Amino acid sequence: MMQLFMPLNFLGFVYREMKGSLANIDEMFGLLTKQPKVVEVEQAATLIITDGAVSFNDVSFHYHPDRPILKGISFSVAPGQKVAVVGESGAGKSTLMKLLFRFYDANSGEICIDEQPIAKVSLASLRAAIGIVPQDTVLFNDSILENIRYGRPDASDEEVAEAIKLAHLSTFIAQLPQGWDTTVGERGLKLSGGEKQRVAIARTILKRPPILVFDEATSSLDSQSEQAILSAMANVTKGHTSLVIAHRLSTIQDADKIIVLQQGEVAEQGTHQQLLAANGIYSRMWQIQQQEE
Ligand code: ADP
Ligand code: MG
Repeated sequence: MMQLFMPLNFLGFVYREMKGSLANIDEMFGLLTKQPKVVEVEQAATLIITDGAVSFNDVSFHYHPDRPILKGISFSVAPGQKVAVVGESGAGKSTLMKLLFRFYDANSGEICIDEQPIAKVSLASLRAAIGIVPQDTVLFNDSILENIRYGRPDASDEEVAEAIKLAHLSTFIAQLPQGWDTTVGERGLKLSGGEKQRVAIARTILKRPPILVFDEATSSLDSQSEQAILSAMANVTKGHTSLVIAHRLSTIQDADKIIVLQQGEVAEQGTHQQLLAANGIYSRMWQIQQQEE
């Protein structure tokens, strides 16, 4: 009996562990990404958020030593600012966000939040301070209510309802057969890309982290869904430091600063108007996208 019981019990443990970790880490990078090891320093301090300032100081990174991905990246995000990162696919945009969340450690240079190097603080305190809306959101085989509540498991029904409203999901959920008790995920109702993005935004609204990161939240959507997402994003980012990776430049024109990444380097930075006036890479990207639209 013991022999049978032990493995089943162990499986239960593994399942709960997986479920727990899915809510935060894999939510960002998809189920199949292998999780590399970042190590906490001994007696790591708790990250103390005062204003929510973020800075990258001469940060370099490679996945494999023979292929540098980020080369001496420096930029800062002032408290409450919205900073956009743009650049061709493969430029290193998502990698920047993975370093901020300490999914990997930089090979050199330093990333700081409110002057504290993120490599010196506990992972739990770092990750509690950052909310990420990833490129691909993973939904669990559970009700849409629980999928949203993963953002903050002790949130009340009223708080979840408020998050649903701000994420522009109310109409969608009202049409579901069992409302927010409807099961979603692989074994339940399959949501569209835009609906999944809004679930991720609702989770983030519940979590209310001081620092927000959106990784191409609208790139795969039609323009109606894009408008819904943008308006939901605006509801969350108000007054919070946010980093927005964007494909469509029309969605980040209002950013306080735009960082143009090219082959792992900051090629240009400035406001939309400044970058247009500079007549460089950004201005060319803008012209091409304007012609497409
Ligand atoms: P972007 O988000 O700008 O499209 P990424 O940061 O995802 O770019 O990727 C930058 C480069 O790093 C790409 O060439 C990509 O193939 C490579 N890369 C991304 N993730 C990994 C990984 N886990 N292992 C090895 N190479 C990777
Ligand atoms: Mg990316």
